[in-house]
Amino acid sequence: MGSKLRIVNGKVYDPANGIDGQVRDICVEDGRIVESVGSDAKKIDAQGMVIMPGGVDIHCHIAGPKVNLARKLQPDDHRYDVHPRTAFTRSGTGGTVPSTFTTGYRYATLGYTTAMEAAVTPLGARHTLEELHDTPVIDKGFYILLGNNVLLNQLMKEGRRDELKQAVAWWLNATRAYTVKLVNPGGDEPWKGRRNSVITDLDATVESFDVTPRQIITSLIEIANNLGHSGNYKTTLETMRMAGDSRVHITHIQFHSYGGEPGKNPVSMAPEIAAYVNDHPNISADVGQVMFGKSTVMTADAPVAHLLRRLGKDKRWVNSDTECESGCGIIPFSYQERIYTHALQWAIGLELFLLTKDPWRMVLSTDHPNGGSFMSYPKLIRLLMDRNFRDAEIKRVNQRAIRKTTLADGLAREYTLNEIAIVTRAGPARLLGLKNKGHLGAGADADITIYEEDADKEKMFSAPRYVVKDGKLIIEDHEFRADHEGRILHVSPDYDPGIEKVIKPFFESYYSIRFENYAVAEHYMRHNEQIPTGKAMAAE
Ligand SMILES: [Zn+2]
Repeated sequence: MGSKLRIVNGKVYDPANGIDGQVRDICVEDGRIVESVGSDAKKIDAQGMVIMPGGVDIHCHIAGPKVNLARKLQPDDHRYDVHPRTAFTRSGTGGTVPSTFTTGYRYATLGYTTAMEAAVTPLGARHTLEELHDTPVIDKGFYILLGNNVLLNQLMKEGRRDELKQAVAWWLNATRAYTVKLVNPGGDEPWKGRRNSVITDLDATVESFDVTPRQIITSLIEIANNLGHSGNYKTTLETMRMAGDSRVHITHIQFHSYGGEPGKNPVSMAPEIAAYVNDHPNISADVGQVMFGKSTVMTADAPVAHLLRRLGKDKRWVNSDTECESGCGIIPFSYQERIYTHALQWAIGLELFLLTKDPWRMVLSTDHPNGGSFMSYPKLIRLLMDRNFRDAEIKRVNQRAIRKTTLADGLAREYTLNEIAIVTRAGPARLLGLKNKGHLGAGADADITIYEEDADKEKMFSAPRYVVKDGKLIIEDHEFRADHEGRILHVSPDYDPGIEKVIKPFFESYYSIRFENYAVAEHYMRHNEQIPTGKAMAAE
């Protein structure tokens, strides 16, 4: 690296350090932000521009076996959205599930420099790491799915708490993952192979495990910081209540904020969810906003995918099973303004953004590509910042749906640039415990985005003038000037090696892969950064 930069005259939005639009210099040396830099540094004049830390996507699906299945399922996307090579960057294909190279470049094109793949079966860790290594520019990590893991559920059922904790730590190490995610805990297992049963009640017993989703969630809350869980709004409220005072993150909460009778049209429960979140500082969430147009449903909630496959016009559908670990469903999808449910989902996301008071705890996501592509973030930012635009958009969608939401009351809130900087970078970085990201204080990674100010916020956030990654000028005057390899972010919590005596026999009996061949080998970890966890962080 070694490059030195001084960015002058720009308005800085760095909410983690309390800087809200003041003009000040940002200095960079050896890939980090520094207090000052010598006069030999390259100077960027950011007059009339806005400087923010690089964007951080806390929840998206960009790499691994299920993402690759989705690519194979939609060759039409590849044909119609070709991403050509340039002198500095490689070619690829786009659509809602871009190829690895295109994923990295397009995130950078929006000023995002970090993205976290949110659902990987532990068995898919190698494949995921291979694709993440191939995803240029951005830093990235992934979350492993443990909610339907057969061995962990056995330990839980037998009340072997400490072994459960050790096994989760072992799994994080074996896969080089960043954290743990739960989707429809205990819901895939009875659905696989037995009958089309769907668990909707937290206290219903999962037959093959003899534990309830409630037990799975409470057991893992004690261990993990990050929690995602599918269900209706009652389940969501119940999940948040069960957490007590523990820190819990609910992923794509929009998808879990529906009321109404089963089998009938859903209604919005966003005000109830927002009120609970407002009153409980231990709860955070990302929205999982739905955006109109093409999307790809990609979920570890296999039963939901099975239900959804009948609703769309596109008859393509994949459900796949990962032995002893999880299920997964993929469906090409399209959200349309005129359809009641789609308009309602779109409106609920906006309600959650507009009714929750603390942007640090309600951050931006579309659950890419589930609610829509990450390429729609600039339009979403405009919906939040520009009330006139939002009101015009509200008029275009199904009005029966809008009348069921508080958007019909004319919510006046407009996000400020400072709040956008929180929900797109400072907030996600803080929730992820990434101390060197999401801010521009000395010592932070020099991941910086510079936008030209524009009344049209969609235009402004679509194409930053400059993007700096690890101190390197990647985009200058809206064009790529360099390629770059980002890092894999992972954790490595301590565990008692004795736990292998519990895990190994299970592998020998039930897995198609031998225990010795399961953990990700060291050579997968070139260009990685180990992020401190739990006690190590608290001790600092
Ligand atoms: Zn997701």
